Amino acid sequence: MPEPEIADGDVLVHVRSAGICGSELHGVRHPGFRVPPLIMGHEFAGVSDDGRRLVVNPLLSCGRCDLCQRGLRQVCRERRLVGVHRSGGFAERVAVPASALRPLPDRLTFDAAAMVEPAANAVHAWNLAGRPAGARVAVLGCGAIGLLCLLTALAGGAERTDVTDLSPQRLAVASRLGAVSAGRGLEAEYDVVIDAVGTPATRAQSVQHQRPGGVAVWLGLAEQAAGFDARDLTRGEKRVLGSFGYSDAEFSDAASLVADCDLSWTSSYPLARAADIFTDLMNGGLHPVKALLRP
Ligand SMILES: [Zn+2]
Ligand SMILES: [Zn+2]
Repeated sequence: MPEPEIADGDVLVHVRSAGICGSELHGVRHPGFRVPPLIMGHEFAGVSDDGRRLVVNPLLSCGRCDLCQRGLRQVCRERRLVGVHRSGGFAERVAVPASALRPLPDRLTFDAAAMVEPAANAVHAWNLAGRPAGARVAVLGCGAIGLLCLLTALAGGAERTDVTDLSPQRLAVASRLGAVSAGRGLEAEYDVVIDAVGTPATRAQSVQHQRPGGVAVWLGLAEQAAGFDARDLTRGEKRVLGSFGYSDAEFSDAASLVADCDLSWTSSYPLARAADIFTDLMNGGLHPVKALLRP
């Protein structure tokens, strides 16, 4: 690729670590708003020419629309993402709008910093659920987002957190991180059910295993269909909330979360191996749970 062009308001970032997101694995198979040719990568951190350590908040908002004005920049009507609508972090160098750069706290490594963006999604989901300390929580899916939702719920004082996944290895990671029960399905009823998968089956589970008057938060985007009994929602006064992105405050809270939590389930690789790693994960490979690329 040619060197990035630095437009007005951009800063050149030398990428040090960039995470591969499940949405990117999906996005290659089903190109939607990711239009090739595109350098993906929306979870990354690096250094500026003048040596500043930076983490990128890839969510770009217009700042002018009615939603931005209400502080809802994550659902800005002109929302764009670094690595989706413009070049991202799977590169040695990338031009990033200065408005998207945040100083990287000293205690965070670059690999941990690349986890701030996915962690911010988990913090946002937990906040949408009402930050219910003492809640019984279920997390469906133990990919990176699911594990970060588990860690966020535990840090937020959940009474118990159970998780589901189809992969025994991922369930083992979740148990090590503090999930009380980790299996293929749920038996109990929960105050909060977080769907980090997004299939008709997990969406149905999120309603079925939600106590009356509880809440389900949906972050997963695997498929379109909903798949649940809508009458159950009405009769039980159940709630389903969509969750996308994060506020600026949640992004900085996520930096504290990743600084204090166990990220031993992430693995980093040289950027030169990116194509192999990406292709393997895209074809259903389950290891690692989270791959970080280092140029
Ligand atoms: Zn992502
Ligand atoms: Zn806006």
